[in-house]
Amino acid sequence: MSAAPRPSVAIVGAGIAGATCARALADAGFAVQVFDKSRGVGGRMASRRAEWTGPDGSAQPARFDHGAPGFEARSEAFVRVVEAAERDGVLARWAPVIDQDGRLGRDDVPQWVPTPDTPALCRALLADLPLVTGCTVDTLRREPGGWSLEAGGDRVAHGVDSVVVAIPLPQAAVLLAPHRPDWAGRARAVAMRPCWTLMAVTDAPAPLPAWDLAQPSTGPTGLIVRSDARPGRTRVPGRAHWVVHASETWSRAHVEDAADDAQAHLQAALAQHVGQPLAWHHASAHRWRYAHAPADAAVPGLCDWDADASLGACGDALGGAGVEGAWLSGRALAARLVARYREAARA
Ligand SMILES: Cc1cc2nc3c(=O)[nH]c(=O)nc-3n(C[C@H](O)[C@H](O)[C@H](O)COP(=O)(O)OP(=O)(O)OC[C@H]3O[C@@H](n4cnc5c(N)ncnc54)[C@H](O)[C@@H]3O)c2cc1C
Repeated sequence: MSAAPRPSVAIVGAGIAGATCARALADAGFAVQVFDKSRGVGGRMASRRAEWTGPDGSAQPARFDHGAPGFEARSEAFVRVVEAAERDGVLARWAPVIDQDGRLGRDDVPQWVPTPDTPALCRALLADLPLVTGCTVDTLRREPGGWSLEAGGDRVAHGVDSVVVAIPLPQAAVLLAPHRPDWAGRARAVAMRPCWTLMAVTDAPAPLPAWDLAQPSTGPTGLIVRSDARPGRTRVPGRAHWVVHASETWSRAHVEDAADDAQAHLQAALAQHVGQPLAWHHASAHRWRYAHAPADAAVPGLCDWDADASLGACGDALGGAGVEGAWLSGRALAARLVARYREAARA
């Protein structure tokens, strides 16, 4: 970029798509501001703190990665990035022992796990960038002086050259509808899959399971993760930390259930899979209404970009699903903005 004023970009969403886009734009010289409705960054690469009471009555901290437990990198570009993050200590390889209905095995493709917790990758990308958390952007206005963003009736940014919407498509549709009804209509039609998730601390079963990750093919659970057996996590002697994802079918059928009911079902299913009663110290359930994007919702170019309005959208659904799809989408949108401003600078 030249000495001309830096183009400014407001990015809504600090998940991996928004964080990737923000980092690429900041590195290219853009003035970036990021907004997220949550208290922290990471989005569906999330973790949650909890507390349980130890035998001596003391408060014991626990931390659960209740979003993506790990992810794969298949494209050459993403493999390069994750290997660099591994060298920086932000990601670790995970080759879990997998139990599929009693058959133990390992996948050929490594899983990547951010350390010490799942949001670490987004935190690293956003490290020195202006970030406002706890801010739910509900209106985008295009005004003569640029874009403005509003949250709960307050203007949180104004006079911004470009806006990037990096949130799950059903939520993005609300922001995009006044400006790009065609994108919003497409976004509403994408069937995101829900996932109920159980986070639990129990006494360690004896013996400990021979697996790190189980994928039962029957019952309500789709995935059982021995959370503290993942790389970079602390094991508490005598205890086991679990994250259980309900199957897609069960999550869809029970999406409107109360959290207590979902929790009770998943606790019972976990004990059944482990094959013995469990002594519970903590249990809670979280519903992800928009956990997974379908792989076939990807768009040509892996993002939406309107150069006239200087408005873009990125995220897992547009980029091909999962963490890698979201990363590809955020990166693709940043490239479109950089190209547009380089062209304008040459003209
Ligand atoms: C339980 C679970 C298991 C998963 N397992 C895997 C897996 O094994 N492998 C894999 O590759 N992927 C997995 N995924 C999917 C993966 O986590 C997502 O595809 C990816 O993280 C999506 O990133 P994103 O940046 O597109 O969106 P998000 O991570 O959803 O980020 C969007 C951000 O926008 C914020 N936001 C939303 N609305 C607003 C608003 N109006 N204003 C401000 N901020 C807003 C949110 O708080 C969030 O931080 C899993 C997801 C879940 C939930």
